[in-house]
Amino acid sequence: MHGAPILAANPCQFLPPPSVSTAPAPLNAGPAGAGGRGGLYFPPAMIERPSPNFGPRPGDAVIDMLVVHYTGMVSAEEALARLGDPGSRVSAHYVIDEDGTTYRLVNEEERAWHAGEASWAGADNINDVSIGIELVNPGHDLGYRPFTQTQMDVFTDLATGVIGRHPIPPKRVLGHSDVAPGRKTDPGELFDWQGAAHAGIGFWPEVPGGTDDGEVLFAPGEKDPVIVEIQRQLAAFGYGVGSDGILDNPTREVVAAFQRHFRPEKVDGAIDRATLRRLEALTRLAA
Ligand SMILES: [Zn+2]
Repeated sequence: MHGAPILAANPCQFLPPPSVSTAPAPLNAGPAGAGGRGGLYFPPAMIERPSPNFGPRPGDAVIDMLVVHYTGMVSAEEALARLGDPGSRVSAHYVIDEDGTTYRLVNEEERAWHAGEASWAGADNINDVSIGIELVNPGHDLGYRPFTQTQMDVFTDLATGVIGRHPIPPKRVLGHSDVAPGRKTDPGELFDWQGAAHAGIGFWPEVPGGTDDGEVLFAPGEKDPVIVEIQRQLAAFGYGVGSDGILDNPTREVVAAFQRHFRPEKVDGAIDRATLRRLEALTRLAA
């Protein structure tokens, strides 16, 4: 539980299901419940902030993926404005501000426009089948900083609800960078995927460190049968990567995306022993 206070041990019951959403709240409504219950962890109310940027899901779509993002803008208000601007043609289902205030932009039943050009497990219809949650953070270009504990607690609460409402397996709880490697880096290496997994949201490969963790096994551009096996393991998990055995730039981008999610200590696209161990552990988990 990533050091969460004991009072946060069972935070999953506070967010109302979509069907009992409350009347629209003022846009500047603060975290209404914060500080209530004698200091107990108490997520703020869901604020309805509908975006026009959505459409129907295909009739046969099953919601079986959760994609985590950061907003990549200087402020929550700026991000909310963009996600609600019909000209931007982008949106997400939820936005979680750094103080935990949560906004619902698109109902889960509808198709939000958050993934863009993306693919996973051979399919590129990510928006059709996914829920998109944005966490407010300026991102790598504008001052990437740690997500707040409140943000993570609220994310855990919200994502637990999402996973409870839809058949989303752990291997399909992903970052935007997983489904769009090379193009996207969010939510990035500061997102607490390990803590999320410990709370039942996604996978985390537990492997002991070794003294040879940092040993880099292949040079950029190198071709090797072991690289074929690594590419196949990455592809078997879902990453969009070929199996030509060459550590080319697209493969390195996928390795970096894997690291950003599952080996955040070092994100460089190089295949070192620690990366390989994490990948093998993840492969066992996902089998
Ligand atoms: Zn994103």
